[in-house]
Amino acid sequence: MQTRSGIAVSPGIAFGEAMLFGADAFQIPQRFVSVDAVEAEVSRFHASIDAVSAGLKENQKVASERLGDDYAAIFGAHRTMLRDPKLLREIEGLIRSKCFSPEFASSRVLRNYAKVFQNLGNPYLAERAADVFDLEKRLLRALLGEARPELSHLTSQAIILAHNLTPSETAGLDPKFVLGFATEVGGRTSHTAILAGALELPAVVGVGNFLADVSPGDTIIIDGNRGEVIIDPDEKTLARYRASLASQKEETARLAELHELPATTLDNVRLQVMGNIEFPQEVEHCTQRGADGVGLYRTEFLYLGTKSEPTEEDHYNAYRRVLESMNDRPIVIRTLDLGADKIPDDFASLYDEVDNPALGLRSIRLSLRNTPQFKTQLRAILRAAVHGDIRIMFPLVSSLLELRKAKMILGDVIEDLDDAGIEFKRDVPVGMMVEVPAAAILADEFAREVDFFSVGTNDLIQYSLAVDRGDPHVSSLFRAGDPSILRLIQMVVDAANRNGITVTVCGQMSSEPRFIPLLIGMGLRTLSVTPISIPEVKDLIRHVSVEQTEKIARHALTLDVAKDIENYLRGELARLHPDHSPVD
Ligand code: PEP
Ligand code: MG
Repeated sequence: MQTRSGIAVSPGIAFGEAMLFGADAFQIPQRFVSVDAVEAEVSRFHASIDAVSAGLKENQKVASERLGDDYAAIFGAHRTMLRDPKLLREIEGLIRSKCFSPEFASSRVLRNYAKVFQNLGNPYLAERAADVFDLEKRLLRALLGEARPELSHLTSQAIILAHNLTPSETAGLDPKFVLGFATEVGGRTSHTAILAGALELPAVVGVGNFLADVSPGDTIIIDGNRGEVIIDPDEKTLARYRASLASQKEETARLAELHELPATTLDNVRLQVMGNIEFPQEVEHCTQRGADGVGLYRTEFLYLGTKSEPTEEDHYNAYRRVLESMNDRPIVIRTLDLGADKIPDDFASLYDEVDNPALGLRSIRLSLRNTPQFKTQLRAILRAAVHGDIRIMFPLVSSLLELRKAKMILGDVIEDLDDAGIEFKRDVPVGMMVEVPAAAILADEFAREVDFFSVGTNDLIQYSLAVDRGDPHVSSLFRAGDPSILRLIQMVVDAANRNGITVTVCGQMSSEPRFIPLLIGMGLRTLSVTPISIPEVKDLIRHVSVEQTEKIARHALTLDVAKDIENYLRGELARLHPDHSPVD
């Protein structure tokens, strides 16, 4: 038995037989073609482009049916890339001028593009190199007639172990057959990671070289909660995971039956449990699990898989889609949180010379610089708000001036819509993320100028503890249980209560069971969590009283080391809800 660690990107446990997809090393048999054959080779090249394009179109159709248009857009983007006249001219030029074989010319040109992406020194763009390698692989497969087993056409259940899964391969995975996956490479911000979460497949990426230690058919356990891959587990481990998978299934079924029950504590305090979404289609993951609304809609994901700037109608249609499923329940639309690890190509040049993108021109700072883009989004939000309970939230606010500028632009948009006689909602509640320590410290001042706070613990921890949230080398230092984080959250909650505004926690911390009693005890009455966690969080709330949680919070706040706090909270969770089987 071997246990390998990687980055957990999608929770859950899966076990089954390994199916291996190593790094594709295509043999490129003929480097040069004869001068007489050049025209025929150019035609063969174009025929392959057509074949790949047709394949991508088919994949787009399948993914669109399975996952919705947003995910399928990846294939559209690949097709656009493949049809790029400059790219085609370059490859064709090498075939004609140097008599390179189409295989050699294509591989050379596409790999050059991929290298450019990788060398930009930016993790987000480096991930985009995967898209180019994906195209290279497809094109070589078409040219060489090589049949790599198609992941999208599996006929029996398996755990996929791959050197890398391209975004299109991930989008094509059928959860009926794929139980989970692990890859040697890959990062937290990749399309692949996002798609794993959307498909709700247990997944671990960035494991490092391990495929050589596995044979096809070996038993594999994917622990998407801990970020572990267990190869050839011994009987004891297997039995433990079997039991845990069985109870996970039972628990999911039990909780599914209770999804309509409200999140009310033993002493009758009604809490709101909302869902965090990235794509409009995910709203169903929230409604099916009994969410009280959408507490965080990360709208910057509208930029994924597309090359062009989303139009006002693109924004509007996405928001209407979410509204339709949510009926009258609230939807908190966060304005674009672009930058740092979420950069579309258009802004890439801004980051070329920047060492610290997380501290740079990102999020609300970028919106305030690019007011046409910001106004386009605000117009769409205000127009969509006519049809339901929409709230606006600004991300990464770090000063009052910044907040006031954002609100002023919102005021301008209201005036413009008024002047143009366009139907819109004027009095949409306006809130802000509290995810920069400065905002937590000035929470009282901010609370007088907004309708609600939402604590973004992912960034709050990153900026308070100076720990890059995406860097696996310091992941053990990224601790929601740090006493400094608890105190900052308490300051924000107290300021919100003093000023009579609502406060939510929407960072990953609120999806982790052990922190739920603590957060309730600190005074939170609304939590926004990843959709898959909604039933578990609601169930936990139904097993505690506010009085018990206040005692827990009081004690936790006296402890001064993160590990002690987290161990204490784990113990309290086991005591309050013995049937709850903690995964962490
Ligand atoms: C956060 O920072 O906690 C948050 C919810 O926002 P994001 O993860 O999108 O940065
Ligand atoms: Mg954030």
